[in-house]
Amino acid sequence: MKNWDDICSRCGLCCFEKSMDRHGRFVTTRTPCRHLDIISRECRVYHKRLDVGEGCIKLTPDLVRQADWLPDGCAYRAASDHEPNEKRGII
Ligand code: SF4
Ligand code: SF4
Repeated sequence: MKNWDDICSRCGLCCFEKSMDRHGRFVTTRTPCRHLDIISRECRVYHKRLDVGEGCIKLTPDLVRQADWLPDGCAYRAASDHEPNEKRGII
């Protein structure tokens, strides 16, 4: 198993604003967070991201399983989808 932080592909997709479509599904917009470097896709305030008022949260395995707002291409979502069912709480 990879180190948790190493799972992130640094795609930056989670740092774009979300909206909700008419079916109640989250859609990633083209509008980036003001702190995202859109070329490198790196957060300019990474070490204080939880304090800058953008609603950033630290992802955990439990959170990823419930986070329907994470973009489809998120590496954490892919990793979670490949977990054995017992780990996902599905019996
Ligand atoms: S502040 Fe949060 S949402 Fe904004 S770029 Fe950094 S990690 Fe992404
Ligand atoms: S969408 Fe997922 S893989 Fe991409 S930067 Fe965000 S947390 Fe990392």
